[in-house]
Amino acid sequence: MNSLKLLEKLADTQSLNSEEYKFLVDNYSQETADFASQLAVKKRKEIYGNSVFIRGLIEISNICKNDCYYCGIRCSNRKADRYRLTKEDILSCCDSGYGLGFRTFVMQGGEDPYFTDEVMCDIVTSIKDKYPDCAVTLSLGERKRDSYQKLFESGADRYLLRHETADSCHYNKLHPENLTLANRMDCLKNLREIGFQTGCGFMVGSPYQTSEHIAKDLKFIENFKPDMCGIGPFIPHKDTPFKDFKAGSASLTCYLLSIVRLIHPPVLLPATTALGSLGQNGREKGILSGANVVMPNLSPESTRAKYELYNNKLSTGAESANGLEALRKNLKDIGYEIVTNRGDVRKEDKNE
Ligand code: SAH
Repeated sequence: MNSLKLLEKLADTQSLNSEEYKFLVDNYSQETADFASQLAVKKRKEIYGNSVFIRGLIEISNICKNDCYYCGIRCSNRKADRYRLTKEDILSCCDSGYGLGFRTFVMQGGEDPYFTDEVMCDIVTSIKDKYPDCAVTLSLGERKRDSYQKLFESGADRYLLRHETADSCHYNKLHPENLTLANRMDCLKNLREIGFQTGCGFMVGSPYQTSEHIAKDLKFIENFKPDMCGIGPFIPHKDTPFKDFKAGSASLTCYLLSIVRLIHPPVLLPATTALGSLGQNGREKGILSGANVVMPNLSPESTRAKYELYNNKLSTGAESANGLEALRKNLKDIGYEIVTNRGDVRKEDKNE
């Protein structure tokens, strides 16, 4: 096999078998990565031109009932300084975000039992009433199907739920027993059926991850065809069981962004905060590899540091008018333009 030929085949057919995906991962090199990003950027241009979509990320709570071994806000971390935003806090984040040009608000949080369907639906409805031209994305973990249904009916448009790894043994090494890949996948299926634009995704370089696992992730993405896909490097957090594991690689992450763009060209692909947190210009490198979304933080200054999923999390000022201007300029310098619209996923017709 030859990696460059495989990448060409992938660009033509949007499909490879698991051995081929594994080969692409095992034979990662600067040359293959450069070629993958060329192909990926070309595909993205055909569909989205030079547009980069921005999403205002609002981290609504770091209280979580789950105990994922990798995550800094897991319930067993007694050192985490817990907070939750009020509805008023959240609306005021949207207010300032709207003024800056954000037309999507992403509410992400730990699985905090305070945010019942009633509480959450009320928040979603209030945002949609106030900003009917904006999309609302939720990223609140696993909930019952009827809960997802209610959230959708209250006006939420999109839901992000990374599958984390498509291999159930690997899943069990990252999570305690009460969390299963089967349930995670059921949630994703339910979200899709209900009508959400649905996002999955995984960490790169998470503990015990092999190239076979990544091949499974890619095959899953090929079959599921998510509307969004979050891919970021694992970064250790000092107060978790995985504190001594190494961080994932930024360049492998970029290579995988390119491959995912080739697998499913219309996917909305963020250059994630975790990628931005590892080394210089991570976000720009992500865009140059085929990503087309950035998610600056709109959370209040006072809580931002507390939403610490991993150490050294990027907390730039992209949320302020100045910070957003700087991001706009950085992206302009590499040929991209931040646009002020909802940035929905493009469906079949490329020219619509
Ligand atoms: N509770 C929600 C949101 C989770 S936080 C949910 O379950 O979906 C969003 C994502 O951050 C997670 O899905 C995970 O992939 C990522 N994340 C958590 N800890 C991380 C770490 N240490 N390094 C990198 N990414 C991490």
